[in-house]
Order: sequence, then C-alpha cells, then structure tokens
Amino acid sequence: MPLRFYNTLTQDVEVFRPLQDNTVRMYTCGPTVYNYAHIGNFRAFTFQDILRRWLRYRGYQLNHVMNVTDVDDKIIVNAAQAKKSIKDYTAAFTQAFFEDAAALRLERPEHVAPATQHISQMVEAIQNLAAQGCTYQSDGSTYFRISSFPEYGKLSHNDFGGIRSGARVDVDEYDKADARDFVLWKARKEGEPAWDTPFGPGRPGWHIECSAMAMSYLGETLDIHAGGVDLIFPHHENEIAQSESITHKPFARYWLHSEHLQIESQKMSKSLGNFYTVRDLLEMGYQPEAIRYLLASVPYRKKLNFTFEGLKAATKSIERLRDFELRLTTTKFPPGSNPEIAGRSRAAIEQFENGMDDDLNTAEALAAIYEYVRAMNTAIDENRFREDNRWDAARVLEIFECVFDCLKPADQAIARSEESPVGGTLPDSDIERLIEQRTAAKKARDFQKADAIRAQLLEQGIVLEDTKDGVRWKRK
Ligand code: AMP
Ligand code: ZN
Repeated sequence: MPLRFYNTLTQDVEVFRPLQDNTVRMYTCGPTVYNYAHIGNFRAFTFQDILRRWLRYRGYQLNHVMNVTDVDDKIIVNAAQAKKSIKDYTAAFTQAFFEDAAALRLERPEHVAPATQHISQMVEAIQNLAAQGCTYQSDGSTYFRISSFPEYGKLSHNDFGGIRSGARVDVDEYDKADARDFVLWKARKEGEPAWDTPFGPGRPGWHIECSAMAMSYLGETLDIHAGGVDLIFPHHENEIAQSESITHKPFARYWLHSEHLQIESQKMSKSLGNFYTVRDLLEMGYQPEAIRYLLASVPYRKKLNFTFEGLKAATKSIERLRDFELRLTTTKFPPGSNPEIAGRSRAAIEQFENGMDDDLNTAEALAAIYEYVRAMNTAIDENRFREDNRWDAARVLEIFECVFDCLKPADQAIARSEESPVGGTLPDSDIERLIEQRTAAKKARDFQKADAIRAQLLEQGIVLEDTKDGVRWKRK
C-alpha cells in the first residue's frame, strides 16, 4: 500500500503524491516565541519531524518552511514586562526553541521564516486582498471580510452561514465557535512596534504571516500544511480564506493536524499553567531521547496523555533496544546466515513500513520492532542467530533510527554517527553502562545476568575486577 495521510480538508485518508516531481513543498506553523515552548508544543514539532523523516525515507526531497511568530500580543506584553526590546526578547526565546528542538533531534526545516523579516510580503498580500474587495478599514486597522469568501469553514467543516459581516476581532486568539472578520493589519498603538504601509502604520495580524510566507517560499499551492488541531480554526481557516482569495487556487492539498498532549485529561497549555518544558524534564534527569520517543510513540492523531510513568516507560523501552543493539555488537555468533532470521528481518521492515505508510502509525511501527527484538533475543538464546544475520538486524535498527532517532545516547550521538552500526571497539560509556547493569543485577541477586554481562564484556576484551571500592575495568 502506498503512503497515505488523513486529510482534514477532505476528512478522508488519501494516497500522498506531491504536485510537482519528487519534491514535497510543506509549510508548518512554528512557535510563537514569547516564552519557552512546552512539551505539548513539542509534540506538534516532533510529529512534523517524523513526517519529514518518513517522506525522505520514501524517496522525496523536502522543501519545508516553518514560521517563527516574533511579533504578537503576548510577545509585546511579555517583552515590556521584561523591560526588553521585542527584538532581544524574541531572539532569546527563538534560540531556546532551537536548542530544545536540537535536544529532541528535530531536523531543522529548509527555511525558518521569522514574521518580522517578511513584512513586505504581508503588505503585498494585504494590498492584493484589498484590490479584490476582501478587506475594509476601521479605526486605522485593516480587516478581512469573511463574507467575501463563501467557502469559509471548509477546513473546520463548520457552517458559518450566519456570520455577521462587520463584527470584528482584533486579537490573535478568539473564541472557537465564533467566526468574525479578522484583523490583517493592526493600527499603530502607543508603545508597540509599527511599520509604515500604504494602508497606515501598524503591525501584522497573526494569520497573514503564514499565508504570505508560505506562498512566497513555496508557490500558490502547497503539498502539505501541518500544525496542531487547535490551529484548524480559526488560524488555518483564515489562512485558506486569505490565500485562496488572492490566488483563486487551492492553498494546500493535504492538511495534517496533530492532536494534543494532555496532562491530567486537560490540554497542556501555558495559560492553564499545567506544563513542562523540555528544560524542566532534562533538569529532572530525564533523557532527551526518552522525551522524543514518548512524543513520537503515540500516533499523531491520537491524544497523548503525559505522565512520568510514561516517560519512565519510554526510557526503559529505549534501554531494551540499546541492550539488543549492544548484544548484537558484542556477541560472537557462529558463521553463516540463518535464512529464517533473514526472512524475519525482512518481514519486520515490511511491517514497520506498512505502519508508517498508514498515516504515520508509529504505534504499529514500534510493535513491529518490539516483536522482532523479542524474536531475535530468543533466537540468540537458542543459538539460531548467525554471524551474517547481524547485518539483517542492523538494517532493521537503522530503519527504526531513521524515524525514531533515539538509540544513540545524547553525548555520543555525534561521535557514534561516524561508526558502522555493528562492529568496532566498545565505547567507554557503553562499558560503564553495562557495568552499572551488572552491579544492579548482582544487587537484585540475578547472578546469571551479572555473569552474562561479564562474559559479554570479556568477549570484547574488557576485563572486570571487583574491588572493595567498586568495579574496575581495563582493556586486554
Ligand atoms: P504556539 O507556540 O502557541 O503558536 O504553538 C505551537 C504549536 O504547538 C502549534 O502547532 C500548536 O497547535 C501546538 N500545541 C500547543 N499546545 C499543544 C498541546 N498541548 N499539545 C500538542 N500541541 C500543542
Ligand atoms: Zn500558521
């Protein structure tokens, strides 16, 4: 089965094909840099990363634009409170965002577009809308007239037939059920940043930045537009109204929306105060790989309930896979290849791919990996695994890593990326981790496991010495 996505626009699962050649032109709504992003926000960005990686695995090239909203109501208020210029204030939080994104191993989109650096594109878009009669002015602000776009509501599947023309909203966030003419350009206010334009001094509304930047980088019709479900209405509905009023062409062909991360059955959000940032969790001692794994493990269209048990389980899951990888690297197998294992490896890859092709069903893809690892551990225990099967297993893990990218510990992610997936000398940190596991096994009186670890290390030329000060090790 080919790659399929659920399209919010058509409410259907559709086969994915880009419009032109092999390149996917994709736009995702990025962060509003008024504070640190929380892990709810990062669920949306992790989904986008998984989407990128799977598209590339399927042979597509990417042209992905992500905006950074660096001027809005909240930013203005927060910067004033912090007694900083908007520029300094947003620069610090933009940097923090990309640091956290890097910790979670999120690939950087091909273009990162800060709103304030694209004012002229927005001005041009507003002028175009004005020329087509889709706007009006009031008190120095310019508004989009929703009644000029009869298809308004087609993405959120709401019937906004009864909207009152002229009922306006100025703020960037407003009541979910209520469609009102939204602001394209906000009149200058004392103490706020402002740009001079033919329709008066002021600053952009939030919605216009995405339409203007998406089309200026990617053309009139995008392949994919993605964001969190809370953006479907009004933000994405407004983006469609703006863009399609300008071009009279479909704005985006596939609309993908990720569900919320919840905590105690509520949406994690800054306003509710029920949030953790990536930094919070790292300071508590959790691994960034575990956060990434947790965010990626639940298919993006399902709600994800955040718990610390879940985060610990994610840590354990990674550990199991790392143990398997290490076992592959360190065990000496009889020569040759067992065809049954080679076949089982191919089947695991197929199941993983089928899961991912099915609207990025990461749970199914993970199930394929865990079933496989269980079967391979049994095969090794029963001496059915052969030397050449290492490569089959390494291939399975490599494909898993293409998407989940969590096996290399953070401190080794760079150094080890240059090594081959199997073979080579054991890095110090792996040795120390094994020693820790052996000590824990001894403590738990699991001497069989403790001995197995000692033997595994010895095979790699690592000798352990138990002293009264703890375990010492050396290379033979
Ligand atoms: P913002 O920085 O508020 O503009 O949001 C950035 C992204 O995070 C958007 O795609 C939102 O839909 C998404 N988002 C916000 N809260 C959550 C949450 N609790 N779970 C998942 N995504 C969220
Ligand atoms: Zn947007």
